[in-house]
Amino acid sequence: MKKEKQFIVCPSCGSTDMRWLLGGKLGDQYKCAKCGFQGIGLSGNEEFAKEVKGKIGE
Ligand SMILES: [Zn+2]
Repeated sequence: MKKEKQFIVCPSCGSTDMRWLLGGKLGDQYKCAKCGFQGIGLSGNEEFAKEVKGKIGE
């Protein structure tokens, strides 16, 4: 299986510029550098990140 680079994607704006905040019971918490969203990031490959961005942009 090909190993793809994994990204943390902001569920609010689709940015991959997510900064790790802390790890808790519910999972790792991130803060988006672009829109300020804080919470659980979506993880996926580059294709997935583009998809999220595309959906939000529409
Ligand atoms: Zn964001």
